[in-house]
Amino acid sequence: MTAPPEWELVVGLEVHVHLKTRTKMFCRCALEYGAAENTHTCPVCLAHPGALPVPNARAIEMTILLGLALDCEIAERAVFARKNYFYPDLPKGYQISQYEAPLCGPGRFLLPTEEGDREIGIVRAHLEEDAAKTVHAGGTTGRSVGADYSLVDFNRGGTPLLEIVSAPDLRSADEAMSYLRLLRQTIRELDVSDADMEKGTLRADVNVSVRRAGEEGFRPRWEIKNMNSFRFIGRAIDAAFRQQVAAHEAGEEVAQSTYDYDDTTDRLTVHRSKEEADDYRYFPEPDLVPVEPPAELVERLRGQVREQPGDRIRRLAGKLGFASAEELVVTGNEWKAEALAAEGLEWKTAAAVAMNRGDFLPENAPALARIVDANLTREALDEAFAAAADGPIDPEDYLLRTALGDEDALAPVIEAVIAAHPEQAETYRGGKEGVLGFFVGQVMRETQGKADPKVVNQLLREKLQRG
Ligand SMILES: [Zn+2]
Repeated sequence: MTAPPEWELVVGLEVHVHLKTRTKMFCRCALEYGAAENTHTCPVCLAHPGALPVPNARAIEMTILLGLALDCEIAERAVFARKNYFYPDLPKGYQISQYEAPLCGPGRFLLPTEEGDREIGIVRAHLEEDAAKTVHAGGTTGRSVGADYSLVDFNRGGTPLLEIVSAPDLRSADEAMSYLRLLRQTIRELDVSDADMEKGTLRADVNVSVRRAGEEGFRPRWEIKNMNSFRFIGRAIDAAFRQQVAAHEAGEEVAQSTYDYDDTTDRLTVHRSKEEADDYRYFPEPDLVPVEPPAELVERLRGQVREQPGDRIRRLAGKLGFASAEELVVTGNEWKAEALAAEGLEWKTAAAVAMNRGDFLPENAPALARIVDANLTREALDEAFAAAADGPIDPEDYLLRTALGDEDALAPVIEAVIAAHPEQAETYRGGKEGVLGFFVGQVMRETQGKADPKVVNQLLREKLQRG
């Protein structure tokens, strides 16, 4: 959107991810997405009196691993704390979280953009447990207001939840979404979470405020909670920006509050006034000892951390341009492009193949580079890539099946196809270029898929134009 240049957008994100552990954070109940309701519960996660929590060591390791990937300082002594509040999906009446002493302290995350690099501050990353899931039945909104009744599924209660808090360093909806995409990719590469918004294993709280260009400090922010769609996050940020600028310019008070985004009206409405940390009356969890990660553990985990995706995009952008480099990295396809380019395939071709073909065994990269370089039929390429995902392939099995790229051989076929479909040819000449796909299909059929699509496209355009 075009922003009034005198106003600056200020966005920070709190990202929550479900860790991919086998069991819950403080008990041994299995984590299973989509299991029948209330089948994974026990006295600990149902908060029966006297039941005591035991922390999940794997969840702590995963949190440290992600902290290291975000260049965070790892605490020598982290403390679990009780965050007190009441809600039906929180049977203990408090959530075990980390407050003053989180596992991961300040870090940084590189966010490359077409205009240059940005560095986004990471304030902290801490470990907590998720609440259970409340389902509101009846009514039309799916929310508690107007529902006939509500049900609670305690399977989710106690799932290890990692919260990553960014500094308010993001300056546009696009930047916020890029940050989120790169962070999601980092989380997936470390295999600590599926980080899937549709399944609810990645959710974001978005904090938005505005200030006049050049202004120091921050104005009151709006918090939009539990966003689970990239598109809506972008739209909600833009809507908050518009509404806050309008309010400030009209001299109205902008109070710090929680807001809901309504996509039908593209507006935010106030949900409730913001709680202060004091309202939760945090105090150290008396049933758990502090976590003191041994230095050897931290060093071992450090060895599993890759270069940040932002650094990889910057490196690839020089060869491919920024947009292709970013697409390759955020889709997890960059390794394929690198493997093919290392075998001598031109970088842009390697990138296109990586984006459009499925995964293959790395050992097949040399054979595939030769196969892509030869002008093979589409069928031969499809077969080679399908086989390359399962086991070693021999390029000689495919290299003889070259595509028919000879113009003299293709011209009569193309002319015959055009002559057989005069109506479609007329439609094309009338400006409907989409019909070209129909003709390409016909030519491929006539040649049993052996024609080189690039040559066919070019010849068809020429001959149809001449009509
Ligand atoms: Zn349990």
